[in-house]
Amino acid sequence: MTVRNILLSLCILAVLSPSLVMAQEKSRRKPNIVIIVADDLGYADLGCQGCKDIATPNIDSIAKMGVRFTSGYVTAPICSPTRAGLMTGRYQARFGHESNPPEGGKQGLPLTEVTVANLLKGLGYVSGLVGKWHLGAEPQFHPQKRGFDEFFGFLDGGHPQLPGGKKKPAGPILRGTEEVEEKTYLTYAITREAVSFIDKYKQEPFLLMVTYNAVHTPLQAPPELGKMPKTPENVRKIYAAMLKAVDKGVGDILAKLRETGLEEDTLIVFLSDNGGPTNETSSSNLPLRGFKEDLWEGGVRIPFLMQWKGRIPAGKVYDPPVISLDVLPTAISAAGGITDEKRKLDGVDLLPFLTGRNQARPHEFLFWRRGAQWAVRKDDWKLTFVNETKTLHLANLATDIDQQKDVAADNPAVVRELQTAFERWNAELPRAKKKKDGMKGGTP
Ligand code: CA
Repeated sequence: MTVRNILLSLCILAVLSPSLVMAQEKSRRKPNIVIIVADDLGYADLGCQGCKDIATPNIDSIAKMGVRFTSGYVTAPICSPTRAGLMTGRYQARFGHESNPPEGGKQGLPLTEVTVANLLKGLGYVSGLVGKWHLGAEPQFHPQKRGFDEFFGFLDGGHPQLPGGKKKPAGPILRGTEEVEEKTYLTYAITREAVSFIDKYKQEPFLLMVTYNAVHTPLQAPPELGKMPKTPENVRKIYAAMLKAVDKGVGDILAKLRETGLEEDTLIVFLSDNGGPTNETSSSNLPLRGFKEDLWEGGVRIPFLMQWKGRIPAGKVYDPPVISLDVLPTAISAAGGITDEKRKLDGVDLLPFLTGRNQARPHEFLFWRRGAQWAVRKDDWKLTFVNETKTLHLANLATDIDQQKDVAADNPAVVRELQTAFERWNAELPRAKKKKDGMKGGTP
């Protein structure tokens, strides 16, 4: 068949096949971006990540319909810095956001930073954030001052799931800037607002960030399960109930996208903001070493899933390391935008890597810095500066995923290469602050 004949056949096919034309028209529509963040959800807490005792079929369906990243990272092992990285596509240490801001305090995401909502607004998107903000409680840091058109949730780092408890939360539930009296179990309320946002804006491209504060403490099960005192035997049960509420929420969001005909036009990302604090909540990071607060794998390697039907493969498991910084450039690329070259972005557009157009690894190095702690990953190597012992620990994650065997002494050239790379990166940053997290009386 000649080229001319092929072209002719395609033209005929296009004329005969309205669905093909429709598909072309449809593909020109800017996709919605839905980013769902769970709080303190450990690496092994989902069915698709190997969890055996808690069923999470709806979250798992994102992996089934899309991509599951086995080496998906966040930029910090605690809540606020990790959100600063996700929101800007830049390592938060670049702009000194390495600690949790004090509750109700003056710190927040620096006003010099541009958020994913700012950028998508420039591409004609309407945007909403539903849930936990944790990027500053003062008026200038409010989500609606940072590119979001709508906000429902709370500004600080934590909030009880159940209304009317004895302990007063740091801040109220807000709709925009108006305080609201929320009587519903908070995870359900967040889902309700997310679903209603989709309904309201189904006609235009939207960014929706759903930032559940489950499965963060306080451990509180939905009220319909009756009183569950927080005894040691009940911890796992309460945790499971909280996680199931999140899973149900994800199911409701996916169902709403389907019902409104938007499923194929929506890029969905699901991730946790940091590793699980196992001792507090029973969340599991296995087989990884360490917990929330650590730069061991268990603190920063998290469940990370992405779905965009028809655009990225379904059921794909992707092993090369990726990081939450990649969400912003991926979203901008999906929206047909180009990121500003002048602004140093650390994330990359993952789409060509997922479609197979680019066979290379998305990142040569990944870096972490939290005060004096730091770590770097290249290929299967992870070099961690252990602050307690002031020593360097090298692990080969391909053969030692739980970082049990320190092979630094056997691989001096690797140590040197990774340390030099870290030092080069570190030299670009403002100096690390000595102070640890400013959050008092609670878990970050
Ligand atoms: Ca967290």
